[in-house]
Amino acid sequence: MSKTAKFGGSSLCDAGQFRKVADIVRSDRERRFIVVSAPGKRFSGDEKITDLLYRCAALAGAREDFSVPFSKIRDRFLSIERDLAVEQADIGAALDEIEAALRTGQASRDFVASRGEYLCARLMAAYLHVPMVDAAELIRFDESGKLDMMATERCCLDLRDMPMAVIPGFYGAMPDGSVRTFSRGGSDITGAIVARMVKASEYENWTDVDGFMMADPRIVPQARTMHAVSYTELRELSYMGATVLHEESIFPVRQARIPIHVRNTNRPEAGGTWIVNEGTLMKEHRHSLVAGIAGRRGFTMITLTKDNLHKQAGFAYTLLKILDRHDVAVESMPSGIDNLTVILNDTDIRGKMDQIYHEIRTELKPDTVEIASSIALIATVGHGMARTLGVAARLFTALSAAGISSRIIDQSPKEMNLIVGVDQRDFENAVRAIYRAFCE
Ligand code: ASP
Repeated sequence: MSKTAKFGGSSLCDAGQFRKVADIVRSDRERRFIVVSAPGKRFSGDEKITDLLYRCAALAGAREDFSVPFSKIRDRFLSIERDLAVEQADIGAALDEIEAALRTGQASRDFVASRGEYLCARLMAAYLHVPMVDAAELIRFDESGKLDMMATERCCLDLRDMPMAVIPGFYGAMPDGSVRTFSRGGSDITGAIVARMVKASEYENWTDVDGFMMADPRIVPQARTMHAVSYTELRELSYMGATVLHEESIFPVRQARIPIHVRNTNRPEAGGTWIVNEGTLMKEHRHSLVAGIAGRRGFTMITLTKDNLHKQAGFAYTLLKILDRHDVAVESMPSGIDNLTVILNDTDIRGKMDQIYHEIRTELKPDTVEIASSIALIATVGHGMARTLGVAARLFTALSAAGISSRIIDQSPKEMNLIVGVDQRDFENAVRAIYRAFCE
């Protein structure tokens, strides 16, 4: 049995946080594979190491002086090294090499950005007295820059036999050996890949919150932490605006049925949130009807009416073709006998609405076209809702008691997601009303 534990930037922002991480790692012998981000912000207004590195790369690329951001990076790493008394990490020499590579223009932007994780892993490995394995030797991309699972699997074969290892997150190597990074926040992906490669029993993702909240705490201050959520519920919630893990970090572990456990480095005693598959969720974790509530503002609804529209072949197809021509994706498309509605994202239709309206009028010849903007969508998500009587009734009773009328309703066929559209000005009250109805 082994656990892969990934620690985010706030968990490694200074020597004090390194100590907390080391205590956590040492408190469970199953925590064998430790993946680290680069040091993040220590306080609001502070700078993340990765941001400073990107700044150095940009300045060096423009042949400008990068000494100010680079000295901030140097100071941060050297102070952690000094504080933890891990001079054997030899961070000064590694920093000199990075600086020289920037100066001579040899370093690619990705290489420079990856050095935050690289140096952080060196420090952590020295502090824990555990070997560091460079991610460039484990995580491999193909020629097109996509993750090469087969090559990665080959490179990770020996890892499984190591008693322990510290691995830098966020990057891997191209076939020619050059460094390539994932998108921002990508250490989550490294953690997931490592967990999969070593066949971990659990992927721990350590951060600075107790887990995922059942609703945005800026809207519902008393929102509780979710004990468990399924991968599918999480996707629905994050699509609707809940900020969670890096999206791509779910797939590697999900396929291998490895549970993710989100935990708080600053409060390891808190239970955290489990992310598991639906079967495990319903079987092992006590779970309420609803996993969580998330929503987004900024939608427009176009409703077309026409007599016997439902019998007219190709009506919806023509509408979708018009939208496709303008590169507009459809969020949802509820329909009735004589009407059809599409919900569109405001950012997609900006500056295009007049032309879309014109094409709808001339190509579809509807009886009426109604456009409602400033719509917010709210998703109430949970497997427990499926086949439970009265869920929708409860939701609409709560909304009407709060004096909110819903403009649109959409329930996914799997009944795990009930979406309502409300006027944007009712958004926050609607989220609170639904939260009260299902989560309190
Ligand atoms: N350090 C990288 C970033 O800031 C990757 C990560 O933290 O996951 O995006």
